[in-house]
Amino acid sequence: MRSKLVVGNWKMNGSRAANASLLTGILEGLDNARAKVAVCVPAPYLYQCQELLQGSPVAWGAQDVSCHPVGAYTGEVCMSMLQDFDCRYVIVGHSERRAYHGESNELVAKKAKAALDAGLTPIVCIGETLEQREAGQTMEVVDAQLDAVLEAVGREAVDKIVLAYEPVWAIGTGKTATPAMAQEVHAALREKLRACNADAAQNTLVLYGGSMKPDNAADLMAQPDIDGGLIGGAALKAADFLAIIRAAQ
Ligand code: PEP
Repeated sequence: MRSKLVVGNWKMNGSRAANASLLTGILEGLDNARAKVAVCVPAPYLYQCQELLQGSPVAWGAQDVSCHPVGAYTGEVCMSMLQDFDCRYVIVGHSERRAYHGESNELVAKKAKAALDAGLTPIVCIGETLEQREAGQTMEVVDAQLDAVLEAVGREAVDKIVLAYEPVWAIGTGKTATPAMAQEVHAALREKLRACNADAAQNTLVLYGGSMKPDNAADLMAQPDIDGGLIGGAALKAADFLAIIRAAQ
C-alpha cells in the first residue's frame, strides 16, 4: 500500500516573513496528517526551512539542481549544497525549466540520477503541452520523458524516484485534468514502470500536478494510481495546502 505524498512547489515566491507565517500555519494545522508532506522552496530559503522544519513531519527540498558536482557554473546550485541543508527532495524537469531554460529529457535524467547518487529523492516532472494533447501525442511525450530517466537511473531505482505527471496546460491555468483523464495517464505510466521492474513499480509514487486545489484534490487523489499531488499556487496559502493534505487521506 503506497502512502500519499503532498508536495508544495513554491516556485519563485516567498520572503523570510511570508515563509515563516506559511510554515508556522502549516505546522499548526497538520494534526496527525497521514499523508507525507514536503515543501520545495527557492534555494535561498532552504536554511530557513531547515531551521523551522527540522524534527517536524514536513520535509523540504529544492526546485532544481545542477547535474554537475561542483565548479565553474555561475548561478547554479549543486547537490552537495542541497545536502548541506538536509534536503530530502529535489524537483527535476519541471515544465517551467523545460520551457524557459531549454532542459532536455537527457539533462533532466542526469539530474535525477545525480540526486539519487547523493541520497536525495528526485521528483521527476513529466507532461504534455496542450498542442501535444490535442495532436494525440500525450503518451508518446510522457513515454520519452520517462524513458530517458529510467535509462539513466536503472531498473533498481524505479521505486526510488517520485514521478509527477503534470499536464503543462493545467499548470497555473485553473484548468485541471479530470480525475479520469489523469488516472488514464497514471495507469499507463504505472504499466511502463512495471515493465521496467514489476515489484518496484507497486511502490513508486506517481503524483498529479496541475491546478490541484482543495475542491478537486479528493477526487483526483481517490484514483487508484494517483499517489498525491505536486501543488503550485494552492501551496502558498496554509489553509488551502492543509485542505489538500487532508483530502489525501
Ligand atoms: C506546479 O507548479 O507544479 C503546479 C502544479 O502548479 P499549479 O498547482 O499552480 O498549477
